[in-house]
Amino acid sequence: MQPEPAMRERLFHSVALIAFVLLSLAENLSAATAAHWTVVNQPVRLVNGSPVLFRVTTPKPVRALSGNWLGHEIAFSFDARGKVWFALAGVSLETKPGPYPIELHAETSSGQSAGQAILFEKKIRVERQRYPRVLLKVPARYTAPSPEDQRQIEQDKETKAEAFKTLSPEREWKSSFVAPVNAEISDVFGVERVFNGSVESTHQGLDFRVPSGTKVAAVNSGRVILARPLFFEGNCVVIDHGEGLLTLYLHLSEFSVREGDAVSKGQPIGLSGGTGRATGPHLHLAVRWQGVYLNPQVLLKLNLP
Ligand SMILES: [Zn+2]
Repeated sequence: MQPEPAMRERLFHSVALIAFVLLSLAENLSAATAAHWTVVNQPVRLVNGSPVLFRVTTPKPVRALSGNWLGHEIAFSFDARGKVWFALAGVSLETKPGPYPIELHAETSSGQSAGQAILFEKKIRVERQRYPRVLLKVPARYTAPSPEDQRQIEQDKETKAEAFKTLSPEREWKSSFVAPVNAEISDVFGVERVFNGSVESTHQGLDFRVPSGTKVAAVNSGRVILARPLFFEGNCVVIDHGEGLLTLYLHLSEFSVREGDAVSKGQPIGLSGGTGRATGPHLHLAVRWQGVYLNPQVLLKLNLP
């Protein structure tokens, strides 16, 4: 027996309804998976001593994004062109290999859920980088300083601590960094050095082989927070690039900027030399982020927004 026409119609409606419900469920599901967090790090292989650029996309538009990484607070900037949040950070030389979380906090900016706090965490692996060990000779006063030199060293510590206190919370750097001189690298970052067979110190910068009197350029925009002679550093310039990022230029023979000056990327800041604890004329470039020295060679290679 055939079903009644009315019943057939009801059956058809039920099937249509079920299909509709299933379809809209599938749609919601795919929308939910499309709008998720993404966290990308550059370089992809992270090691102790490396700077890192984090790029983040959020599942919903947010008005601000901040994060915590290895105990450091990081503030993100929004790149409107790439529709991505970005921040520079780093991994200290002392960081042991292993997975470390980056914790992200944001506040949504539009729709019914405006002002809602959203969180995300991703584990990022830090691998071990082994750094070489070298023996070096410098004048004896740099490994066995006299009481007068000791006083100078103590005073330098205070001078630097004072300069490092007044840093710009705003980002002053813009896009990729440039090399301070066009020259060969004579010593890399992270080398364990033994001076005069006794004093050990980690090389926390990058050395460029340049003769005395070579123009040295700012690697990015910022403000000069220190430009004066120091015992170990020699004539030293420190540039604040904001958000805790500094670059230091050591052993200069001459200054061409003064403390307080604003500098732009590529602007000459002084001439290279061999002042302070140096085995000969060269430029020592250091990168300091929130109290941690990072490998300048990696920073110079990062492709930044
Ligand atoms: Zn050096």
